[in-house]
Amino acid sequence: MNIHEHQAKQILKKYGAVVPEGVFGFTVKELLEKCKSLKTEKYVLKAQIHAGGRGKAGGVKILDNLSELEKSANELLGKKLVTHQTGPEGREVKRLYVEVSSKIDKEFYLSCLVDRASSKIAFISSDQGGMDIEEVANKFPEKISTTKVELKEDISNEECQKIVEIFNLEGSSKNEAILLVKSIYKMFINTDSNMVEVNPLILTKEKKIVCLDAKVSFDSNALFRHPEILKLRDLNEEDSSEIEASKHDLAYIKLDGSIGCMVNGAGLAMATMDIIKLYGSEPANFLDVGGGASKEKVSAAFKIILSDKNVKGILINIFGGIMRCDVLAQGVVDVAKEMKIKVPVVVRLAGTNYKEGKNILDNSGLDLISAENLDDAAKKIVEVIK
Ligand code: ADP
Ligand code: MG
Repeated sequence: MNIHEHQAKQILKKYGAVVPEGVFGFTVKELLEKCKSLKTEKYVLKAQIHAGGRGKAGGVKILDNLSELEKSANELLGKKLVTHQTGPEGREVKRLYVEVSSKIDKEFYLSCLVDRASSKIAFISSDQGGMDIEEVANKFPEKISTTKVELKEDISNEECQKIVEIFNLEGSSKNEAILLVKSIYKMFINTDSNMVEVNPLILTKEKKIVCLDAKVSFDSNALFRHPEILKLRDLNEEDSSEIEASKHDLAYIKLDGSIGCMVNGAGLAMATMDIIKLYGSEPANFLDVGGGASKEKVSAAFKIILSDKNVKGILINIFGGIMRCDVLAQGVVDVAKEMKIKVPVVVRLAGTNYKEGKNILDNSGLDLISAENLDDAAKKIVEVIK
């Protein structure tokens, strides 16, 4: 689960990090009222969306006074902001954040994430802040430092030193950077984060270390332990079909291809996506309907898949273990009749009662294409949508 910058900064602050003072609002009126408490020369207005790259897209503005701020806030609120992370459809700005401006001397990059390959926590630091870290990795790989830390109570001073070395700081600024790494480490572990990213982390003209931007994402599987974090969830920022899927206990992730997939079991779902690619097409989604999919679940899954305008065909791939193929087939037929599905549907059934299941599909009077095996299924769906 992702949260907004202003929320991430509050959590960072709680763990001892230095962040600029700021206020947020859902309306310009609310925002201006709250801004009266800020003591600053200039105001920094920042669109709050769950995507980076706002600066380049006009989502971050530095303003001289409250009347300029009001004007820009009116322009920004409700606007669709298109950044390199939102995709071409952009993201509507529904809340705004205003913070005091910092005088930037240097910009750095600092992040902390789970490194699955080594089962460690990786800190990534760079003296090229403010840029996309992917871009830095491409252009100046030598300017990125990765430090892997064992999961434990505390991070050692040596590890902190190594992480901040690339910043080339001295004296109190260096100490502040080390303390920040400690704060981030503590926060990361205590909140079950997947990632904490500060870009840019800055050295101010006054030689202070300040987190100027913050992005945090949490492990959704651990959110039950953090009700206070779960409250920060913003459904406006999440894909509506993914929200709908979670209501029906369906594991659904929207993708960009044209073949909708309905599969039971995450492993089989991955294999199905792979084989679609192997035959030259792209999956429109990952969807695991789970072990004992009911007719209601199948129906919800169909609706969610079809709500995606890119879907040109559907591949149903079911392995009947606990689930019986005949029950599933009947569910598919009923739902397909009810919903008058117009795109081609290929069904591959294997396991318990698959013959009975195939009979139901073949005798349904519907245009359902049955497949012998996974390979056959993938070939057929790719062929038929051409
Ligand atoms: P994004 O990563 O979405 O583009 P940032 O929060 O990183 O948004 O802001 C973009 C740029 O705007 C920063 O790199 C920094 O130069 C400037 N900026 C952001 N916040 C402040 C601030 N409080 N004071 C001064 N400059 C800021
Ligand atoms: Mg940033």
